Amino acid sequence: MNFYSTNNPSEKVSLKEAVIKGLAPDQGLYMPEKIPVLQDSFFRDLPTLSFQEIGYTVITSLFGDDLTQDQIRDLVDHTLAFDAPLVKVYENIYSLELFHGPTLAFKDFGARFCSKLMSMLMDGEKRKVRVLVATSGDTGSAVANGFYKVPGVEVVILYPKGKVSQLQEMQFTTLGENISCIEVEGVFDDCQKMVKEAFLDTELNKEMLLTSANSINVARWIPQCLYYFYAYAQLAQKDKKLAISVPSGNFGNLGAGILAQQMGLPVDTFVAATNINKIVPDFLHGSPFAAKPSVSTISNSMDVGNPSNFSRLLALYGNDEILFKSKVKGFFFDDEDTARVMKSVRSETGYILDPHGAVGYLGLRNFMKMHPDEYVGIFLETAHPGKFKSVVDHVLGIDLDLPERLKAFMKGEKNVHSMVNDYALFKQFLREAKV
Ligand SMILES: *Cc1c(COP(=O)(O)O)cnc(C)c1O
Repeated sequence: MNFYSTNNPSEKVSLKEAVIKGLAPDQGLYMPEKIPVLQDSFFRDLPTLSFQEIGYTVITSLFGDDLTQDQIRDLVDHTLAFDAPLVKVYENIYSLELFHGPTLAFKDFGARFCSKLMSMLMDGEKRKVRVLVATSGDTGSAVANGFYKVPGVEVVILYPKGKVSQLQEMQFTTLGENISCIEVEGVFDDCQKMVKEAFLDTELNKEMLLTSANSINVARWIPQCLYYFYAYAQLAQKDKKLAISVPSGNFGNLGAGILAQQMGLPVDTFVAATNINKIVPDFLHGSPFAAKPSVSTISNSMDVGNPSNFSRLLALYGNDEILFKSKVKGFFFDDEDTARVMKSVRSETGYILDPHGAVGYLGLRNFMKMHPDEYVGIFLETAHPGKFKSVVDHVLGIDLDLPERLKAFMKGEKNVHSMVNDYALFKQFLREAKV
């Protein structure tokens, strides 16, 4: 499979180049040059297939020319090492729980696939690849855990000192091995700037192979389509049209759902649900696309003012804005709406939503209200409520018990380098650190 850049469709690169580069040199996003459509027999057999079996077929259809069958099995088994159960919440409404991975958020799927694939593509190269990550919390934990002990790949994480939650910090600073962490005396933007400067430093790039693992990388984006197929496989009820609601920030997750749909998955409607960072819902309702500074909310992993996958969504619809607007329904909600629905769902069903899943559920419910009895709906539960314990406890008036996996991180030993906000020091660190 070759990939083209959304900024220049005639410029094509191999899978290896797309994954190692991350972003195209013209700043465009990489897209698969063709989207394979899976056979009817695959969809007929879906309910009998395991998550992994689904993964082998889907990934083979995409990367069968680039990887051996053994590599594909390895890659899928590593990625889908935990379940993504479909849980009934109300009549006709299901939660797809994507938080059963090591860091309890759906980003684990993309991070695990990306790390394993990078390692395979680097096999036989003398040099190791170094992944630089600036994080305000969530990305760091998913990437660190996904890349932990993966051969051929070193990870360097920069984060603003004292500005990520203790739990998030422990999720990446206690691992060691091939994961190094630097706390920077500054804010997230300072970390981001140091990483960008390193990518643009021609001298440094001659000495070492640097790459990024952010959410626009195809190796993080594509594997997210797998759980949409698995959700459909688990859905026993097929007497109505299917709507899937995706709580969104950078819109990689929703884009992967649309990819699954274009591979043949019979989803009737996608709902794009956001908090008040509502650039995409506004666009879907007729406003021009306009990036804005992000606003803080209780669903903070979706506080995005310039959704980085937007051009990918357009590309999936052949850059036909009218088609895109007819296929995807946009909704947005403020923190009050989100908190209110977390309370009502808990009191009506006992189900505890995290603030992101709550936004997804709200989008779905609003869409289904407009079409009574026509749809069965699935919303994506993108994080375990324990990951946002302070918000959940405050909204619901409870003391949520953290899952063992989260507690285990708190027992680890933190290992970090401290640095003032100075690129020269970061460069020196990269040169001196052993790889
Ligand atoms: C990253 C994240 C999102 C947003 O996903 P996108 O692919 O950026 O739209 C939603 N919920 C949680 C918990 C996240 O961590």
